[in-house]
Amino acid sequence: MLRIDVRELRKGPVATQAVLSPSDPLFEGLAISLAEPLAVDGTLEATGRGDFFWHGRLQGLLDTACRRCLKDMSTPIEVPIEALFTADPDLQDDPSVYPLLEPVSHVDVSEAVREELALAASQFPLCKDSCAGLCQRCGADLNNGPCGCPASKAKP
Ligand SMILES: [Zn+2]
Ligand SMILES: [Zn+2]
Repeated sequence: MLRIDVRELRKGPVATQAVLSPSDPLFEGLAISLAEPLAVDGTLEATGRGDFFWHGRLQGLLDTACRRCLKDMSTPIEVPIEALFTADPDLQDDPSVYPLLEPVSHVDVSEAVREELALAASQFPLCKDSCAGLCQRCGADLNNGPCGCPASKAKP
C-alpha cells in the first residue's frame, strides 16, 4: 500500500510496501524502462507537527544504454528515499517535500516514488569506466578497436 489513511498514522508508523509492475500507470510519461517490477519498501510516520515523514527504498532493474557507446545494458538501482509530506506552504520549496491538500485524509507516497525513480534513471551509466564510445564520424564502436577514420581532433 502506498496510499495510507491518516487515521492509521495517528496510531503509529505504517509500513509502506508495494511491488509495481513495469507497466504501472505511475510510470507513464517517464523516459524509463523497467526490466523487472520495482520493489518499494518503507515506513511512513506522523511527525507530531501535522506532517508525515517517509523513509524508504526503491529497488529494481532498469533497461538502459551506455551513454557513450549506446550499448544496451541493465542497471540495478537502489534508491534510498527520505520525503516529507506536508500541507504547510512554508516548507514546500525543498525538493524532498511533497504537498498535501487540506483537509488531509490520506498520504500517497507514490508521487515520491515516481520522482525519485526518474531522478535515479536520469544518471545515465557507462558500460565500463573506460568505454571508448562511438566514432563521431562513422559511428563505429571504438571498444572494438580503431575504425580507420583519420584521427579527428576532439571537440570540447
Ligand atoms: Zn559503453
Ligand atoms: Zn570512424
